[in-house]
Amino acid sequence: MLHIHTGQCGLCVHFGEEHPDDQKLIQIRRSMEAAEDFIDECRHPMHEKLHLKVTAVSACDGFEPATVH
Ligand code: SF4
Repeated sequence: MLHIHTGQCGLCVHFGEEHPDDQKLIQIRRSMEAAEDFIDECRHPMHEKLHLKVTAVSACDGFEPATVH
């Protein structure tokens, strides 16, 4: 498991944005940990057309914090 820091995809609203109620995603945000091989799509408007897939510990300047349920 990898620890996720603020600014990284796992805590970003655009990570898996098309399925925000996904239990795995919610769990990742609560625990701030994710498996090394966990990937999801970034739906940031600048990446959306590219269908960019990122890990929970990837990052970019488009980071916006997700609400943690
Ligand atoms: S690549 Fe950037 S915008 Fe996309 S989920 Fe990661 S931090 Fe957010």
